[in-house]
Amino acid sequence: MSKDKEKEKKQEKEKKQEKEKKQFKAESKKLLDLMINSIYTNKEIFLRELLSNASDAIDKLYYRSLTDNTIKINKEDLEIKIEVDKENRKLIITDNGCGMTKEELENNLGTIAKSGSLAFKEENQNKDIDIIGQFGVGFYSAFMVSEKIKVESKAVGSDDAYIWKSEGADGYEIKKGKKDTIGTTITLKIKKDTEEENYSDFLDNYRIQSIIKKYSDYIRYPIKMMVEHSKLKEGTENEYETELVEETINSMIPLWKKAKKDITEEEYQTFYSSKFFDYDKPLKTIHTSVEGNVSYNALLYIPSHLPYDFYTKEYEKGLQLYSSGILIMEKCSELIPDYFSFVKGLVDTEDVSLNISREILQQNTKVKLIAKSIEKKIKKELETMLKEDREAYENFFKTFGMQIKFGIYSDYGAHKDDLKDLIMFYSSTEKKLVTLEEYVSRMKEGQENIYYACGENNDKVDNMPQVEGIKEKGYEILYLTEYVDEFALQTLTTYNAKKFVNVSNDTVDLDTEEEKKELEEANQNAKDMFNIMKKTLENNNISDIKFTHRLKNHPVCLTTEGELSVEMQKVLNAMPNDNKVNAKMILEINESHPISNKLKDLYQNNKEELEKYTKILYAQARLIEGLPIENPTEISNLVCDIISNE
Ligand code: ADP
Repeated sequence: MSKDKEKEKKQEKEKKQEKEKKQFKAESKKLLDLMINSIYTNKEIFLRELLSNASDAIDKLYYRSLTDNTIKINKEDLEIKIEVDKENRKLIITDNGCGMTKEELENNLGTIAKSGSLAFKEENQNKDIDIIGQFGVGFYSAFMVSEKIKVESKAVGSDDAYIWKSEGADGYEIKKGKKDTIGTTITLKIKKDTEEENYSDFLDNYRIQSIIKKYSDYIRYPIKMMVEHSKLKEGTENEYETELVEETINSMIPLWKKAKKDITEEEYQTFYSSKFFDYDKPLKTIHTSVEGNVSYNALLYIPSHLPYDFYTKEYEKGLQLYSSGILIMEKCSELIPDYFSFVKGLVDTEDVSLNISREILQQNTKVKLIAKSIEKKIKKELETMLKEDREAYENFFKTFGMQIKFGIYSDYGAHKDDLKDLIMFYSSTEKKLVTLEEYVSRMKEGQENIYYACGENNDKVDNMPQVEGIKEKGYEILYLTEYVDEFALQTLTTYNAKKFVNVSNDTVDLDTEEEKKELEEANQNAKDMFNIMKKTLENNNISDIKFTHRLKNHPVCLTTEGELSVEMQKVLNAMPNDNKVNAKMILEINESHPISNKLKDLYQNNKEELEKYTKILYAQARLIEGLPIENPTEISNLVCDIISNE
């Protein structure tokens, strides 16, 4: 074979390979399947997705042109065009944005890049609505209405254009194409009508216009379309004819730049869903415009539920940052404190330059000022919600309260005063969430402390022996059931000069002087007995054993001395480090319970038995606290011994 022939053959082979169908990556294929067979009722959103991609592509081109002299563009020419070809059932969307190279076509349209997509695929298999709703599946959503899609694209800085084509889940092909201008043209071959769905709707000029207005009105580049106008026929007085005129359909005013009164609830919500991929109504929309030391517009949303990835390390806090209307950063974390990390939204300001770098941004005083002002605004809105819409606030707090409590505790309490009025706890007397202010405002005369009790859930706390005595006195108790709770209160130490006191702390003393004296005497008299008992428990990290008045019906409880409570010990020891802590625990025995006489009796008559009882009482106290017992077999045998001797 001659060299030429060989070359020819090789080229032919390459050409053939080129034309061969390529397979979608597995997860993309699944998603495509879903789209093709979608029963999702809101199919029109495909247009929003494509227009948003087109707008992003123009943004990218424009942004690059600012730093790259070789890219020359005319700002006025940037646009998106839509053509409807009813006869051939084609809807064509063209943008003159950055375009895609062959590799980009392959990577962007052959795979799902979104980090969330894998997670949701696993959780929501076969649930069309959730997937489309929650994540906005971008380009692929076009398969809900199309039987074929063709993407022709020429990337900025490249000489060649490429065509990507697909008829759905069994693959796609990429080949060289012809396209003179930079940008992308997407041609959708709209599906045939079925009994359930009138796909021809998406070939209706008016329908397309209204979908654009509904979802994409704020897009900053003109979305142009040929629109029918009727005009007077020349030479006649009342005969009309239709002519086609190119019109810009969208108002192009970013939503956040519009006056609040001109924005409908629906517009705020649609904008939220399309930008932040959450199709549930946000709990709160905050639209604000500030002028002064810094000037900015912000549109912020508090979601009504936890973002699906909120507690994963993939979750990034931050607001979109725009410089005079141009997106310069997708997630600017400097704009939002950690304890408001759930807030979604954007900030548009003239005070930050277009090509500010990440590093400079962190130091930028304007950015810091904006962040401070936004933080204040969010806090004020939350306080107003708490005052005016308690139910909404409680919902908010159940969802994001943990963040706020964490905010109090973090940074060594630097933000505690800002946040202390935003936290709530379940109250023993009100049987619902209450604020600290509410608690303090109804404290009983002579009550000096704010009492709280910790446990796994409200029911368990409610049954704690230590809670009983305080309830008996008529004092309100706050129930702390999340691990961060006690750390937050200990960081606050006081509220309105009232100290926070754990009901399990040994300093809690509600006795009268007389009762105190009486108890002291009882303890003094039983000193030797307690010494024997302490000896029995000497390897058990018990710092004291004593009679108490704090219990009513319960025989025993554990209290702690000092700052470190049993709950805190549990939390700290569950953390992955080697420094285990030990709370200073005291075994308290109810002086008015029959067990106290039994102990005294054993002390006199049967010291061996006293040891057994001590071990059992201690084990009981641990169990009540939710602490493990180290010697369950021994305890079980001891209990059995005692009951068989009854
Ligand atoms: P998303 O837009 O959420 O990233 P899509 O599936 O809609 O997901 O798009 C995938 C990627 O394809 C985009 O991120 C973008 O890089 C590229 N892309 C899509 N449409 C266009 C377009 N009209 N011009 C340039 N790139 C595009």
